[in-house]
Amino acid sequence: MTKNLFRSAILIVSVALVGSAAAADCETTVEANDAMQYNTSEITVDQSCQEFTVHLKHVGKLPVASMGHNWVLSKTADVEAVSKDAIAAGAGNGYLKADDSRVIAHTKLLGGGEEDSVTFETSKLKSGEDYEFFCSFPGHHALMKGHLKF
Ligand code: ZN
Repeated sequence: MTKNLFRSAILIVSVALVGSAAAADCETTVEANDAMQYNTSEITVDQSCQEFTVHLKHVGKLPVASMGHNWVLSKTADVEAVSKDAIAAGAGNGYLKADDSRVIAHTKLLGGGEEDSVTFETSKLKSGEDYEFFCSFPGHHALMKGHLKF
């Protein structure tokens, strides 16, 4: 009797492990703080994901006007131009040029305590291309950036 219970327990644990290994994690949470930092510098998107979701949480307390954060994804080669146009677009546009085709995905610009999510299709990504995510608030890009791998 005890032996059977033990076997059942082993079986349940095995099934749970196989289950978690099979399903790729097609989402991630990124935190941004009042020290102008993300809590991650690299995101890996599994090739088996059709869509990928990024949840951005501003865990600080400062308002959007002084410490606004967003999460913007583009090719590394486009980041500088996107960033420049974002600053020109100004606060009223959330520091992003409207309908910028170089931007693959982006969240809203957030103040302390706020959060937003963005989901994009991975068909927009090419394997082997360099992608970078960054905050487009003026002056934040230097510290708030990271690589996205596909
Ligand atoms: Zn920022």
